[in-house]
Amino acid sequence: MTTHNENEWLRFRKEFKNSLSVESLFAGIRSGDRSVLSSAITLIESTVALDQEKANALIQHCIPVSGNSIRIGITGVPGVGKSTFIEQLGILLLTAGKKVAVLSIDPSSERSHGSILGDKTRMTQLASSSNAYIRPTASGNSLGGVAQRTRESIILCEAAGFDVILIETVGVGQSETAVNALTDFFLLLMLPVAGDELQGIKRGIMELADAVVITKADEMPEKSKNAVQTYQKALHLFPAKDSGWIPNVLSYSMFDSDSVKRVWNMIETFESQLVQSGFLEERRKEQSVYWMKESVKDMLWQHLLSQSSDFIEHIEKEVVLGKISPYMASQQIFNKLIGKK
Ligand code: GDP
Repeated sequence: MTTHNENEWLRFRKEFKNSLSVESLFAGIRSGDRSVLSSAITLIESTVALDQEKANALIQHCIPVSGNSIRIGITGVPGVGKSTFIEQLGILLLTAGKKVAVLSIDPSSERSHGSILGDKTRMTQLASSSNAYIRPTASGNSLGGVAQRTRESIILCEAAGFDVILIETVGVGQSETAVNALTDFFLLLMLPVAGDELQGIKRGIMELADAVVITKADEMPEKSKNAVQTYQKALHLFPAKDSGWIPNVLSYSMFDSDSVKRVWNMIETFESQLVQSGFLEERRKEQSVYWMKESVKDMLWQHLLSQSSDFIEHIEKEVVLGKISPYMASQQIFNKLIGKK
């Protein structure tokens, strides 16, 4: 239980951190202070205009000292074993002297006010290390907004010296495409049961994967072996990746510490191959341009909504009633934007 004095102290710290200048926040982040990092991420999540200005200035400070991590996306349905796997991988990396940040994106939390990733404290062992940082749940009104904040959180974590950033999502929504465009390596966790449909994983997500990891191999060893073969075949049917990387399928069990090492060795092989070929740098450049365009689209749409919400609502109804085609509707909205009658 926290005492009155402790509460006062916590309130003081919070107010103090809110009042920190961009320079002080930057200095705190660079020194690896996790509580300043948290305040900075809260700042970039704020919708208050003044906070946004400060957040933008902070990001500008951090960009030149960012980019030095490997960014790994991890996805899978609830219960597949994401937090167990991430905790074991995190601890392995800490032992190897690395600093690990985990950012979780939970698309459910905004709509249902619930959380698929769970409100229970996850990854407790990892969370207790001073070389790890876990930030649960970025949520927001639009996927674009969530992605932008995650992207900026990655930059802040890198500026704070984290060398592995794990970005976790629940593999049921569209957020995976966004996460793929935020990360270097995309890992899909699957249960050892047949059929992707059964697991609610869409074909599109499979296609994005740089690796599939079959979890809980100890529970169903035979099924696990079969699943590895099945997914290996399935991945071969997709077009080859531009990077030249051939997606891998591995099995994992929380009771076999070698299995998590094998996954990490694979990611290291990927990293060294793609750094050598220059593809990783290219991919990040492409991602930056992609997010610039997405961000402009978002801004234009927000502008339209703020200026002409009645008009848009009217056109939407016309589309729903089948009175005009979606293309015609978009043309009319676009004309409104450019002031054409
Ligand atoms: P998440 O919802 O995807 O984060 O899944 P969790 O990591 O919370 O795991 C769900 C359940 O599966 C928990 O009870 C874990 O203990 C269990 N679990 C995770 N990995 C393994 C594994 O490799 N073997 C076995 N037998 N159980 C596992």
